Amino acid sequence: MHDDLLLEVEDLRKHFPIRHGLLRRVVGQVRAVDGVSFTLRRRETLGIVGESGCGKTTVGRCLLRLIEPTQGHVWLHTDAGPVDLTTLSASQLKRLRPRMQMVFQDPQSSLNPRMTVGDILAEPLVVNRVCRGRRALQERVCALLEAVGLRASDARRYPHAFSGGQRQRIGIARALALHPDLVVADEPVSALDVSVQAQILNLLTDLRAKFGLAYIFIAHDLGVVAHISDRVAVMYLGKIVEIGATHTLFATPRHPYTEALLSAVPVADPYVQRARQRIRLGGDVPSPASPPSGCRFHPRCRYARPICAQEEPVLRAVGPDHSVACHLADELALQGMQGSEPAACEESAP
Ligand code: SF4
Repeated sequence: MHDDLLLEVEDLRKHFPIRHGLLRRVVGQVRAVDGVSFTLRRRETLGIVGESGCGKTTVGRCLLRLIEPTQGHVWLHTDAGPVDLTTLSASQLKRLRPRMQMVFQDPQSSLNPRMTVGDILAEPLVVNRVCRGRRALQERVCALLEAVGLRASDARRYPHAFSGGQRQRIGIARALALHPDLVVADEPVSALDVSVQAQILNLLTDLRAKFGLAYIFIAHDLGVVAHISDRVAVMYLGKIVEIGATHTLFATPRHPYTEALLSAVPVADPYVQRARQRIRLGGDVPSPASPPSGCRFHPRCRYARPICAQEEPVLRAVGPDHSVACHLADELALQGMQGSEPAACEESAP
């Protein structure tokens, strides 16, 4: 076991009941998350990617128990030893909350429009009794604003007076208010202009170094994830199908779904971009209420063989810090992004 382990997730599941009829009988289960396991080290960023509906946001919310997991364990390593968050009472969880925070996708709706930015940032400090006295509170709020690239005078303004990128900076400042070890960032740049995305990604990277944070960075865009993540987990229909170091996964993907996602990432070199083959997946993502038999990806996989519809592949190691769930992982030579950099977002003024 690593000494610097922060989080261990073991067989995490979240099933939502499907109710029907007058008596609201349970007639099925939507298996949004269906057996997810991974670890996260301190000061590490793990990107979680996949199409809409793959369960990545549900994983993030289950980790912080914003929604209750159906099954599984989430071990947070503290100075006093590992604590299973899934078994804590509400009051025990409240004591650990400051250590785990979330940045939401939509900065507009995650900030109370009736509160000034200063009050929004002061609220967690007051509730958790972090600062004593008005002066100490003001100083802490100013320090938070400056840490995310805003001015101390912005504390008096309301969220509507800021641009989308600035509002996301306020959301990040609020998440940092209690000195967390872990920040779950759920699509933090998806709602922003491409030109502003790079600023927020660079800010998150700087803050990680400054405050020793670990991130779970949830996104549907592999190109964005590549800029910030040390490791990447690819999810499909409630399961992790591939996980590994970012450079390994991008250069030599071992799962056909990862290969298809990578083929859609634009690269900086236009000659390479023209030569690359875009893999278009047929059909829609199947319903998580009735996932396909065997490998869940088999109805859309261009390499599928009869065994794929019969037996479910397990996530197994295929290299150092690289695991994949595919029967044919040792045979397939998949197209990665070796030698080609994902196109970077240009920074512009906030
Ligand atoms: Fe494709 Fe079969 Fe691998 Fe699934 S197990 S990804 S269907 S090759």
